[in-house]
Amino acid sequence: MNVLFRNVHVLDLDAAAGLPPPTDVLVEGARIAAVGHDLGPPDRTTRTIDAGGHLLMPGLVNAHFHSSVNHMKGALPGLPLEIFMLYESPALEALRPTPREAYVRTMLAAMEMLRSGVTAVQDDAFFVPAPSPEIVDAVLQAYRDAGIRATVALDQPELAELDKLPFLADLLPPDLRAEAAQPPACGQQQLLEAYRHLIATWHGAADGRLAAAVSCSAPQRVSPEYFAALDDLSRAHGLPFYAHMLETRLQRLLATEQPRFSGRSLVRYTADLGLLSARMNVIHAIWVDDDDLDLIAEAGAVIAHNPISNLRLGSGIMPFRRIRERGIPICLGVDEAIAGDAVDMWGVAKAAGLVHTLTDPDHERWPTASEVLDCAITGGARAMGLADSLGAVGVGRIADLALLDLDTLPFTPLNDLHRQLVYCENGGSVRLTMVAGRIVFEAGRLTTVDEAALRSEARDIFNRRAPAMAEARRAMNRWLPAYRAMTSQAASRDVGMERCAGDRPRGNQGSGRS
Ligand SMILES: [Zn+2]
Repeated sequence: MNVLFRNVHVLDLDAAAGLPPPTDVLVEGARIAAVGHDLGPPDRTTRTIDAGGHLLMPGLVNAHFHSSVNHMKGALPGLPLEIFMLYESPALEALRPTPREAYVRTMLAAMEMLRSGVTAVQDDAFFVPAPSPEIVDAVLQAYRDAGIRATVALDQPELAELDKLPFLADLLPPDLRAEAAQPPACGQQQLLEAYRHLIATWHGAADGRLAAAVSCSAPQRVSPEYFAALDDLSRAHGLPFYAHMLETRLQRLLATEQPRFSGRSLVRYTADLGLLSARMNVIHAIWVDDDDLDLIAEAGAVIAHNPISNLRLGSGIMPFRRIRERGIPICLGVDEAIAGDAVDMWGVAKAAGLVHTLTDPDHERWPTASEVLDCAITGGARAMGLADSLGAVGVGRIADLALLDLDTLPFTPLNDLHRQLVYCENGGSVRLTMVAGRIVFEAGRLTTVDEAALRSEARDIFNRRAPAMAEARRAMNRWLPAYRAMTSQAASRDVGMERCAGDRPRGNQGSGRS
């Protein structure tokens, strides 16, 4: 059915603080067919929505996300990334999900996103202990059924733990060191086979709403051969390429602590391999230097900013202004429901608007609300490779839209629309969410799935899973002393830059925080 929004205010990121005058917006099929005053009387196939007093805006894009831990919000205390990853999702057979579990957990976040006006997600999905066609299908089927736009990659490390982390070889006792030297059971050939399935089955499915991406997880977690094979896939099919880079101080130290990097940062290493491209989403980019940023700008890559996850894990603060100054597009992401912990892009936008005040004394360099919205909307579209078809309410654009009621407390009284979107709104004003011209959320409920039944099923499934998950976490405790020593050692090292506010320990290796 076509939809005509009557008398609606349309978000304009270039406009000043005021509210643009109301207009009409006609959606035909999956796209916006017309924007203008007094669009003619609709035919019988068109539903008219009187949207006076409402704001129509492009849906937000959750541009970096791992759905695999959607059932674990609030499950872990604050921990540095490397210790956090020990406990987050151990690669144990006992934790292998059933396809139904993967479907239900994916659906949890899809529902949360659609309810708050998030119309698209880039899911860097990881699978323990390894991906299978059935599990991949379950994740994509959930996105198909929920009605959200989703691009999905398989985020699987291919190297042994010892290759991915510094100091560990010296810190682990012999039995654990031998274990950490073993590569994951799922090797390069199996992973590429899983990608062939993902791309053949799902890329372009649901009229193009679902798509594949590739992911190396992070450069230090894969061999150059597998890294290059993923780039070949990305180039051949035009897929975004996800790579976490320089999320923590410890990752900066890989340059000098792992011989294969020969003193080069992970960004420089990737560029030297010829793999830094405009298809790449560089995720986090916190501990980057000017040389790294020049390389990213030259390649035309996008940076995915996840400020809440970065605060939750104490990773540091991304140099926002230096990135924008180089014209590098920034998109925003939740990262994951265990490091977020809400799948709440409004919260992410607010954090992006706030956190950079801590690291730049010049207030004129702080992000403006309009810039933050630009990241959450157009940056996300660019990251997905859809800059020309998403990210604006304009003729010919795909109708991925959110309709917000302005007669709500976040907008009363209205002083500055962009600032109130970033700093006041929490998703509660969203009255309707549309993806590819289809209304998927309206009048307080999703139109696509039975939310109450899915929530109930999720409680049943994951309550039953809880003992196995607790046991798996207990089993990881034997690694903790070495990982704690590793993160302390990293915290005490000078890497020639500072990305965390406040004092940090120096010159006392082996002690320090954590
Ligand atoms: Zn991530």
